[in-house]
Amino acid sequence: MFLVGELGRSMRSDGILGVGGSDQSRATAVVVASRRRWLKRRETWLVVLGVALHAVYMLSIFDIYFKTPIVHGMDPVPPRFSEPPAKRLVLLISDGLRADKFFEPDEEGKYRAPFLRNIIKNQGRWGVSHARPPTESRPGHVAIIAGFYEDPSAVTKGWKANPVEFDSVFNQSRHTFAFGSPDIIPIFCSALPHSTWNSYPHEYEDFATDASFLDEWSFDQFEGLLNRSHADPKLKELLHQDKLVVFLHLLGCDSNGHAHRPYSSIYLNNVKVVDKIAERVYHLLEDYYRDNRTSYIFTADHGMSDKGSHGDGHPTNTDTPLVAWGAGIQYPKPASGNSHSDSVTTFVDKHAHDMPTPYDWGLRRVERVDVNQADIAPLMSTLLGLPCPVNSVGNLPLGYMKLNEAEEVEAVVANTKQILNQLLRKSYIKSSNSLFFKPFKPLVHHSFSLSQIDELISAKSYEAAMKLAVDLRNLSLEGLHYFQTYDWLMLMTVITLGYTGWMIVLALHVLQCYSSLSGDLSKKEHLSVQKKDSGKVYISGCLLMAILSVLNLVEHSPPLYHAYIGMTVFLWTQIFSEYRLIRGLWKYLRERRADYFIKLLFAAAVAVVIVELLVHSFTERKLYTWFFLIAGVVASILLHFSIPWRSGIPVFVCISCWFLSVFTLMPAEIPDNNNLVVTSGAIIIVISLAAKWLDTHAEGNKFWQSITFHESRTQMCSMLYCIQIFLVGVSSVMVFLSTKHRTQNQELHSSHQFINWLVAGSSMVLPLFSANGILSRLSSIFLGFAPPFLLLSIGYEAVFYSALAVVLMAWILFENASHHSSKVKESSLSENNTEEHITIGSDERYLQLSDVRIPLVFMVLFNVAFFGTGNFASIASFEISSVYRFITIFSPFLMAALLIFKLFIPFMLVICAFSAITKLVRVPRLGCYFLVILFSDIMTIHFFFLVKNTGSWMEIGNSISHFGIVSAQVVFVLLLFALTNLYTRSIRIKPLSTSPSLKTL
Ligand SMILES: [Zn+2]
Ligand SMILES: [Zn+2]
Repeated sequence: MFLVGELGRSMRSDGILGVGGSDQSRATAVVVASRRRWLKRRETWLVVLGVALHAVYMLSIFDIYFKTPIVHGMDPVPPRFSEPPAKRLVLLISDGLRADKFFEPDEEGKYRAPFLRNIIKNQGRWGVSHARPPTESRPGHVAIIAGFYEDPSAVTKGWKANPVEFDSVFNQSRHTFAFGSPDIIPIFCSALPHSTWNSYPHEYEDFATDASFLDEWSFDQFEGLLNRSHADPKLKELLHQDKLVVFLHLLGCDSNGHAHRPYSSIYLNNVKVVDKIAERVYHLLEDYYRDNRTSYIFTADHGMSDKGSHGDGHPTNTDTPLVAWGAGIQYPKPASGNSHSDSVTTFVDKHAHDMPTPYDWGLRRVERVDVNQADIAPLMSTLLGLPCPVNSVGNLPLGYMKLNEAEEVEAVVANTKQILNQLLRKSYIKSSNSLFFKPFKPLVHHSFSLSQIDELISAKSYEAAMKLAVDLRNLSLEGLHYFQTYDWLMLMTVITLGYTGWMIVLALHVLQCYSSLSGDLSKKEHLSVQKKDSGKVYISGCLLMAILSVLNLVEHSPPLYHAYIGMTVFLWTQIFSEYRLIRGLWKYLRERRADYFIKLLFAAAVAVVIVELLVHSFTERKLYTWFFLIAGVVASILLHFSIPWRSGIPVFVCISCWFLSVFTLMPAEIPDNNNLVVTSGAIIIVISLAAKWLDTHAEGNKFWQSITFHESRTQMCSMLYCIQIFLVGVSSVMVFLSTKHRTQNQELHSSHQFINWLVAGSSMVLPLFSANGILSRLSSIFLGFAPPFLLLSIGYEAVFYSALAVVLMAWILFENASHHSSKVKESSLSENNTEEHITIGSDERYLQLSDVRIPLVFMVLFNVAFFGTGNFASIASFEISSVYRFITIFSPFLMAALLIFKLFIPFMLVICAFSAITKLVRVPRLGCYFLVILFSDIMTIHFFFLVKNTGSWMEIGNSISHFGIVSAQVVFVLLLFALTNLYTRSIRIKPLSTSPSLKTL
């Protein structure tokens, strides 16, 4: 059935058994020792390679998904107007104001924004402005003011600072006056010499109070400025020039929405406040200028969900009001037909917005013009006769503008040329760098289209010119996307090839070093000539790498491209250098019978199903529930047949799996339940008592002896056990006491704090001194980590700790049973077969196909150790309350360290059990580790394709963190191996008394 150890057999015949003379056995010992040294070097090398490879490929998502859309070096295109429609423009942004709360009436049927409603009905235009997720303040403002959807790549460069320079309406203006939040105003104005701006200190954004005074602050600043101008002739002169922008950022709704949710009276009242401010600004400016040359735009950067948050693509977040009036803006029109005119055909992220105007808004008779958020930038630019911001992707919403036919065409042509310029610039940059440039075909003849448009304009056939210009603009937008994703195919191929190459390298290594296969092959093939041949492979690999590097240099590719390609070429060179092994493998496979392939296929299918289950479990925790429900039944049936006598083990395994399945149904945000934490202390003690009972009462039984075996049993061990039980009891009491004290006095008693630290710290050291049998050491580790975990727990996760431990015990019992039954089977076979298991390591055997089960089960348990009590969405909102039993003052680093430590504890348990099992069934642990990495890289590839660059913060962040987490698993698992080795290193199992090889070695 398995790739059983033939090398062992060949070595044995060479005298490992001591059949031959002592000279021979000494020579074999030398060979074995040198092979072991070689293996060790190779293992280290593979680990280093794995870490480097995952680090390099992880960075690739920034070259693929998060590349900034901004290019520099385009010329601005001013519209060819005789006179711009407006002399100055006022932009009012009510941060976090969602459309329905703005337009709908309150319970008494009164509208919250009477002034702006009056404008909509009598004086201006209105619509819904659709924000693109991530619906956050900064991208929202960038879309409105600069006209492009800021790429999430800015995240990596720190969004607060300005990661990239971009053009904006403010930048093109003669002068900009801006007042508002310190998070927003400096983005646009801090580097702008022709601006006057001010923002309040951060402390003003205190969530506890009604934040509408922040709106008043912005207005007061502007009013003060106008008042000052009466005494300041220079300022007055400036204020009377054209191309001025006034920007008032009104943060009130956002702060109040976060603090009190959008249904609260405070938020709804804030809507009235911003309406009042719009009214006051309007009257202030009309009184000041009296020239009817001011346009006004009122909108919001994003909405606010019912829960008081924003960020995702839900309509409550993306739908914001837009009201425009004043100079250059059309008067209201009666709605034509029953639907609103939607000037935009496709939204940037294909999100549909054909929401009909709700009846209770009372606006069905007034024509509504919806826009994408970035369309507001060209609208503002055109009103002032300015060129559109050069990086803008907005389409000018003509439905708002009062222009004659010729001016309309000119405005759209300017907008089109500005977008086309971006495309040409991107195309130029790409073509000047690449050797095999593939242009964006639909726009190869763009200059012809442009001259055609000019001809049509001079012939006064405006309609045809408009149609051409709009078509050209749409094509240009498509072309921008084409160049944004130009390298995708190449990069995706290189990286997928890289990961597959790495997986093949690992698989070959495992087959070569930890399975009987290489011995099998080397017997048939003489590997002496291999060196010379693999030299050729290396030379051609180097050549290929050199060629590709030169190509990359010529193409001015980013430096990391070299790393991606170099890594992939290197891995494939490694694979080809082993071509003898591959050929041998192929031959070996061809000689197998059909049932071998059926088994192989079955194992592969099971592995793929489990790995895919793990991939989906990242978004759907409930999968684990199903998995453990089924696994419990399957495992107990298998056990029932492999244990010949009547035994409670199958029932125990089934019940423990079912118990664990409950936890993934519970909410990821753990509700407080102090009593549960206290009781779980008792559960832990009961479990350890059961383990202790088993440990002492099963000594004689042959089945149990491999896990209950001790090298020494001293008085100290049982005393240690009592101390550990006592510490768990103490921590349980301390959970109760310190929480009670905290709730009564709002603080942590310093003596409680001291005891907690002492108990948690000392209990983790104790397992190191426990007896070194599998069961006694593991139950001691379980007891040792219980106090810190209990003290860091706030709810059901304390019980999860026990449930996980019980399942780990069930796993050990399962492996022990199958190990035991395979031993029984073998001893009934012929004498010769008994030693087939003896192999490479001191007393390790070769890996068999069925051993794939161990890394797979490990991966499931390793992941459930995390998902049992949390998910990645709630990682950011750690339950801070769980560290309150250890620290009194706010110190983010210590808190984070404690929270991460708490997450670590279940992982440690799983790794300890894994190490124990590899010892129990005598398989090489590193071989199993490489298999774990192999399987988790299937997940890595899957997550690599799932990375998103659109959607909410949460979606983008989660997709990156999923990919990052599985990529980091190589390092993480290895690190935990090293840590837990402290505890598991000294575990002893019963030596193989039946194996003579040990004695001879
Ligand atoms: Zn905002
Ligand atoms: Zn906000």
